Amino acid sequence: MRARALHEDVIVLTSALLKVNCVLLRGGVEQQREPAGPLGVIEVPAAGGRAEGAETFVVDSPILPEELEMLPSVLAQAGFPAPSGLLATHADWDHVLAPLAFPGTPLGCAESTASRLRAEPGAAQRELRSVDEELYLDRPRPLGLGAPQALPVPGHLEIGGRRLELHPTGGHTVDGMAILAPWAGVLAVGDYLSPVEIPMLNAGGELGAYLATLERLRPLLGRVEHIVPGHGDVLGSQQAAEVLEEDQAYLRALGERGSEAPLPQGRRSAELRKQHARNVERLEG
Ligand SMILES: [Zn+2]
Repeated sequence: MRARALHEDVIVLTSALLKVNCVLLRGGVEQQREPAGPLGVIEVPAAGGRAEGAETFVVDSPILPEELEMLPSVLAQAGFPAPSGLLATHADWDHVLAPLAFPGTPLGCAESTASRLRAEPGAAQRELRSVDEELYLDRPRPLGLGAPQALPVPGHLEIGGRRLELHPTGGHTVDGMAILAPWAGVLAVGDYLSPVEIPMLNAGGELGAYLATLERLRPLLGRVEHIVPGHGDVLGSQQAAEVLEEDQAYLRALGERGSEAPLPQGRRSAELRKQHARNVERLEG
């Protein structure tokens, strides 16, 4: 698992599996830029120390058992308080595993995601089990999603007195939200704008809704410094805009030419061609 700080309140963890990104978000720490004392000593809160009123959310999740096990100590070392909430950008199994690391911590998601989880109880658990069986992975406990808390999307969410923006996404699946932290200049989009995947129409996914999501994301890109896709490297605004153009061109071609649609440059591996074939099936089905 790779860790990268994008801001003093934002750390991105990238799982060794599927390059799935987990975002650690902290709000409510007062900026204390006190000048050095006479001895040049600057008071720094001890690792794990809790600034008054600070709050942490964990967005999505890494996948491997040891990566999930490390999450509490990663937070403590960074001086982030234990999470008061877990957020999922959408209900796909590879994004809802944080309750394995923080059982009992409430899971928040878009209403579209909450209703998808209600409509397909146990689906994430079944998919996780089949991946675990395939890769011989053992988990210390079963995945419990509890009763997720539906958040207002579009809307806002308070984190330690700071404010997150929640923007609706959809088209990859039927559900989802993007999370924007304006003070930190970070936008977590879920499974859109990935530099390592082509747009995927999963079950419940829909081409028109996907294109509409890209149009909603477009104006957000210029408001932030870092865009965190569900899978793959963190992007700058310009890079994300380029991925957006390529994804849009691919999806339009997919709608018009089906299997003949060219894949985006640099995203033409055998695995992505298989994904393209699944997209064509989804459209024709
Ligand atoms: Zn995913």
